[in-house]
Amino acid sequence: MWKTDLKNNMTCPLEEGRDLASLSALGAGGRGELFMEPAEMRDVSVLFRIHGKEHFPLYILGGGTNVVFADGEIEGVVLSTRRLNGWRWDADGSTAVLEVDAGCPFPLVVSHVWKEGFTGAEFAHGIPGTIGGAVAGNAGAGGRSVGDLLEEATTIEEGGDVQRWKRGEFDYSYRRFSLFSSSSPVRFLASCKMKFQQAPRSEIEQNVKIFRRARTNQPHGVKSAGCAFKNPPGDSAGRLLDISGCKGLHVGGAVVSELHANFLLNRNNATGADIFRLMESCRDIVFQKTGVCLEPEIKLLGFGN
Ligand SMILES: Cc1cc2nc3c(=O)[nH]c(=O)nc-3n(C[C@H](O)[C@H](O)[C@H](O)COP(=O)(O)OP(=O)(O)OC[C@H]3O[C@@H](n4cnc5c(N)ncnc54)[C@H](O)[C@@H]3O)c2cc1C
Repeated sequence: MWKTDLKNNMTCPLEEGRDLASLSALGAGGRGELFMEPAEMRDVSVLFRIHGKEHFPLYILGGGTNVVFADGEIEGVVLSTRRLNGWRWDADGSTAVLEVDAGCPFPLVVSHVWKEGFTGAEFAHGIPGTIGGAVAGNAGAGGRSVGDLLEEATTIEEGGDVQRWKRGEFDYSYRRFSLFSSSSPVRFLASCKMKFQQAPRSEIEQNVKIFRRARTNQPHGVKSAGCAFKNPPGDSAGRLLDISGCKGLHVGGAVVSELHANFLLNRNNATGADIFRLMESCRDIVFQKTGVCLEPEIKLLGFGN
């Protein structure tokens, strides 16, 4: 029923059985029952209106740099935001306002801001993915996060309504953004407004250098989804994984990086199940050795409960 409703009401193509591994940075997982990549927000509203009535599984996919998909066929709809990538930059003296759609690549925004001589986004140097993914997970580094930049967020709600949230109507903390902290009902970040202040170029370049240097202990040029686990309060997940002996641990083609223990890599055609089981093993080992229960940072899509 919901498939017929979608086919009759959406203007973008609907693809059955789309390979999802190629859309995620980890390069693992199965196929989507129904996949769509709309270029118009109107289609997202229609999808959310139908979803509000028929409640099929719905997964939002940005750049795929923080997700792992289950293997086999993933029931329901995968909505890719990559074609929803408009933006408007408005600089007026020492202040600039950027309005940006969910699917816009975050690295593009970050480099534009500092190349124009504005400060605030340097911490995000090296964070891949889209604006939507960055806001949903409050991506950050070095104690700064996307939430610090946000003036306004526009969402599409269950049922299809558009809602505007001003600063003060949402809150955020380490890898958590209040509007997206629960998976039900599903809420879509359509666009957001960010504010930046002008700063001397030398200061901005110095900040970028500092954040760039902080990434030298991370693996590059490999299939990963960034940090697998969130840092527990006052500690680092990488340190706990390291002292628990997890570096080099592997399940099938998935392995814990030797360089940074919080990076799980797809080294040899890992499946979604390999990555899931490796995460479980790491969590169990760290719990046995340190008593700390690590919480996943990577979003597991299509694995059920
Ligand atoms: C090499 C590497 C380094 C990284 N470094 C960092 C880092 O320093 N700091 C950090 O925080 N992260 C880091 N990450 C993780 C990741 O890049 C970020 O979390 C990123 O912001 C995810 O964006 P994405 O578009 O890829 O989201 P996806 O991986 O596609 O999705 C992530 C989550 O956001 C949801 N989502 C995506 N778009 C929307 C939307 N429009 N509305 C609602 N929900 C949405 C998805 O449903 C999913 O639950 C790193 C990843 C890699 C591979």
